[in-house]
Amino acid sequence: MPAEVHLFKCLRDNYGVLLHDPAKGATASIDAPEAGPVEAALREKKWRLTDILVTHHHADHTGGIAELKARHTCRVTAPQREAQRIPAVDATVREGDFVTIGSLVGRVLETPGHTAGHISYWFKSENLAFVGDTLFSVGCGRLLEGTADVMWPSLLKLRGLPPETEVYCGHEYTAANVNFALTIEPKNPALRSRADEVVKLCEAGRPTIPSTIGSEQQTNPFLRADLPEVATAVGLADASPVQVFAAVRARKDKF
Ligand code: ZN
Ligand code: FE
Repeated sequence: MPAEVHLFKCLRDNYGVLLHDPAKGATASIDAPEAGPVEAALREKKWRLTDILVTHHHADHTGGIAELKARHTCRVTAPQREAQRIPAVDATVREGDFVTIGSLVGRVLETPGHTAGHISYWFKSENLAFVGDTLFSVGCGRLLEGTADVMWPSLLKLRGLPPETEVYCGHEYTAANVNFALTIEPKNPALRSRADEVVKLCEAGRPTIPSTIGSEQQTNPFLRADLPEVATAVGLADASPVQVFAAVRARKDKF
């Protein structure tokens, strides 16, 4: 029985995600922005919460943990490097560790840069990746606790996942990200068709998530910082990919 994923809105522009294993009846909440919408989603799907998989310590990803933990018998798994800043942690994980949600097996990828200990969860057999605020569709997280040379390898790690991998990120930022990306690569055909698709989805009130790694490889300027066309666009034709990535990120910060 294949895994099921349920995506729903939380807070202002966060996403909540439930990952469900029908074989064993296990369900993980990926992060917990706030308890109410997670509870409502569990009721709607008639799923029992067994796990919370935390990507990073920010309040808009952890604010619902304590309340959910008080009401459900669930295990909270968090990144080892920032577990002390996350409530009610039961297990800490680091690069290469595995998490199990019923019979589903996810691998922990350390993807620092947005925060110093940020992790992502990759469920290889299910072709699913939960990337928190490291990678957004057509964007990436701000460098709040890391420099470009910390974030760039994290993005390369995610870029290297199989192209068919479905990517669930923490926020609905895609429309703004597309507008920015078009200033870097106005002629990129894949980006232009993604832009059209995103306009239609937003007009219909539908999420632009999940994306795929393959789509991000073709459209996300932050994953394309080692391509000559992106380097040239930011006036850094002979610079290293990290320098180009830093320049693209700095432009987005001011966009
Ligand atoms: Zn964050
Ligand atoms: Fe966030």
